[in-house]
Amino acid sequence: MSQGSLIVISGASGVGKSTVIAKVLESCADVYFSVSCTTRPPRAGEVDGVNYHFINRVEFEERIQRGEFLEYAQYVGNYYGTSRKIVEEQLDRGIDVILDIEVQGAAQVKDNWPEARTIFIVPPSFEELAHRLRARKTDSEEKIAGRLQRAREEYREIPRYDYIVINDELEKAAEELRAVLIAERCRTIKRIALIEGV
Ligand code: 5GP
Repeated sequence: MSQGSLIVISGASGVGKSTVIAKVLESCADVYFSVSCTTRPPRAGEVDGVNYHFINRVEFEERIQRGEFLEYAQYVGNYYGTSRKIVEEQLDRGIDVILDIEVQGAAQVKDNWPEARTIFIVPPSFEELAHRLRARKTDSEEKIAGRLQRAREEYREIPRYDYIVINDELEKAAEELRAVLIAERCRTIKRIALIEGV
């Protein structure tokens, strides 16, 4: 059995990454979404262990020291990180793993796993992004301004990504993400062991 694919998704906060990912998880078997650890407090409706593992800074820093993160970064004043053990276990079982992480973390993953595929999800426009962040009603104007500023900075990293998905219509964005997952599964390196006589 070949290893699963590591699919890294970045994109501004509020662009709808989680919704696109949820849509794909509903319709694709053998795909695992990696639940990150964060020191950010939960937003209304977020559930510990489902959206994130919510931990405090001391615990996060201990986990950094123990090398438990595949990657981690600070984003608008909080730590976010991906558990190395869980991701590696899933990949070894042939399961594809999706990470929803910001650009510094994505760069760390690409350095350590060159075969990872990176996807940047963009909104149709910045105005639309600002509108979606306000509509969410979860962050103060100051936090929203911070997230928009960060989004502009992150756009500079787009040329490093393998794919761009435009989240204008949810169905279409989900289909594009599914297409990347499927294409990865068809790669010769993943399938050659199944073919007799090669
Ligand atoms: P939010 O606070 O809106 O849930 O997430 C803020 C940013 O942190 C998003 O861009 C999200 O992709 C990113 N993020 C979530 N989990 C991780 C992680 O484990 N590592 C890194 N580097 N970024 C993450």
